[in-house]
Amino acid sequence: DEYTRDDILRIAEAENVRYVRLQFTDILGTIKNVEIPTTQLGKALDGEMMFDGSSIEGFVRVEESDMYLKPDFNTWRIFPWSDDNAKSARLICDVYDINGEPFDGDPRSNLKRVIKEMEDMGYTSFNLGPEPEFFLFKLDNEGNPTTEMNDEGGYFDLAPIDTSEDCRREIARTLEEIGFDVEMSHHEAGPSQHEISFKFADAVTACDNIQTFKLVAKTIARKHNMHATFMPKPLYGIAGNGMHFNVSLFKENTNVFFDENDEFGLSGDMRHFMAGILEHARGFTAVCNPLVNSYKRLQSGFEAPKYIAWSGRNRTPLLRIPSARGPATRAEVRSLDPSANPYLATAAVLKAGLDGIKQEMELDTPVNQNIYKMSKKEREIENVEDLPTTLYTALKALKEDGVIQEALGEHIYKQFHKNKTVEWNMYSSQISQWEIDEYLKNY
Ligand code: ADP
Ligand code: MG
Ligand code: MG
Ligand code: MG
Ligand code: MG
Repeated sequence: DEYTRDDILRIAEAENVRYVRLQFTDILGTIKNVEIPTTQLGKALDGEMMFDGSSIEGFVRVEESDMYLKPDFNTWRIFPWSDDNAKSARLICDVYDINGEPFDGDPRSNLKRVIKEMEDMGYTSFNLGPEPEFFLFKLDNEGNPTTEMNDEGGYFDLAPIDTSEDCRREIARTLEEIGFDVEMSHHEAGPSQHEISFKFADAVTACDNIQTFKLVAKTIARKHNMHATFMPKPLYGIAGNGMHFNVSLFKENTNVFFDENDEFGLSGDMRHFMAGILEHARGFTAVCNPLVNSYKRLQSGFEAPKYIAWSGRNRTPLLRIPSARGPATRAEVRSLDPSANPYLATAAVLKAGLDGIKQEMELDTPVNQNIYKMSKKEREIENVEDLPTTLYTALKALKEDGVIQEALGEHIYKQFHKNKTVEWNMYSSQISQWEIDEYLKNY
C-alpha cells in the first residue's frame, strides 16, 4: 500500500469519497481531525492545509499559531463503516510550523526525530507489537457509557457466556478491512474485557495502528449499543486494561535481538536495550501510564507489574522475554496501559533502550519467581525496585530523568509535565466515596 498523490485522487473519485479527515494526535493522546470536502483534497495532499494550533491541548504558541498538516500518503484509508453514497476517508498527518519545520509539539514528528537517532546508531527499524486491551460496557438509556458489564466471560471463554463476541468479531473484521493483520481475538481475564492482537510494524505505523484501533473499537461498539473503553482500571477488584509493548530492533531484515550462538539466543544489543528499559522505567512511567487511574492498575495481582525486573518465565515482572526466537525474538514491556499517547510512549521506551546500548548497561539476573510472593527483604537482595505508585511520584521521577525528557523534547516535556501536574492537583483535592464510607462515621 504505497500510495502516490495521483493514486489517492483517483481512488477518492472512483470510490465516491466525499469527506476526508486529516488526523493528528495531541500531547494527551487524543486524535484530532480537520475534515475537508474532497474538493480540497489536492491542496491537502500538497501539505497546504492550515489550521489554528492554539486551540489544541499542549500546542499553544502565542506568537504563531498557524500550522500546516502534511499527510502521510501511506495512511490513506476509506472508513469501512461509511455510507456508500458519500464515503469518508482519513489521512494521518505530521504537523509543521509556519517555517516549514516539523512542529516540536507534534508527538508523531517527535517520534520520527527519536527514530532518526536510532538510525544514526546503525539500526533500520524499531518494531513494535502493541497489545491494547479494552472493556465493552453497556450504554444507559440516554446513550451514555456506564461501567455495567456486558458479559460474565473469562479468559478465552466462548459463547453463550461471551455475549460481546459478535461485537468483538465485527471490530476484528473491520480492522482487517482497514488493513490490519489480525493475529488473534479473544476474551481477556476480566468480565467484558477483550484483546485483539495484530501484527507488529515499524514504530510509527504501529502507533498509527493503535490510534486507528481505538477509533474502530469505539465506532463499532457504538453500533452494538456498547461503549469500548481503554481506561486503565475502570472497575475495582477486576483486571485493568494494559497495553504490552513487544519490541525488537532490526538491521534491514535481521532481528539484532537474536543471537543463535548465545546460550539463551539473546544478543548483547538486546541485553543492553533491556537494561536501559529497566534503568529508565521509573522515568518513563508518567509517559506510559499518564492517568491518575493508571496507578490503580499497577497494583499487585492481575499480572500488572509493580516492580522493576525482568524474566523469561513468569508474567509478573515489568519485562518478559517471550519464548519465541529467530525473527520473533523480542522483549515485552508490560507496564504500559492504553491511555498512553502511543507516539510519546514509544519515543520514551525506544530512547531508554538506546541509552542502554550506548552506555553498554549490564542486565541484572532475571527474577524467575512470582515477585508478588517475594518479601520486601527478598526483593532488596535481588535488587528489585518499585515502579512509581502514583502519578505524582511518576512525574517526580520524570523530572529526574534527563534521557526521557530528551525523548519528549523540551516543548512536549514542559507541556506534558505542566498538564499532568494540574491533573494530579485536581484529583488530590477530590473527596472520594471510599473516604466518606471509611471516615464519616468514625471521625
Ligand atoms: P501475548 O502472548 O503476550 O498475549 P500476543 O500474541 O497478544 O502476545 O502479541 C504478541 C505481539 O508481538 C504481536 O503483536 C506480534 O506481532 C508481536 N511480535 C512478534 N514478533 C515481534 C518482533 N520481532 N518484534 C516486535 N513485535 C513482535
Ligand atoms: Mg496478548
Ligand atoms: Mg495474552
Ligand atoms: Mg492481554
Ligand atoms: Mg502480552
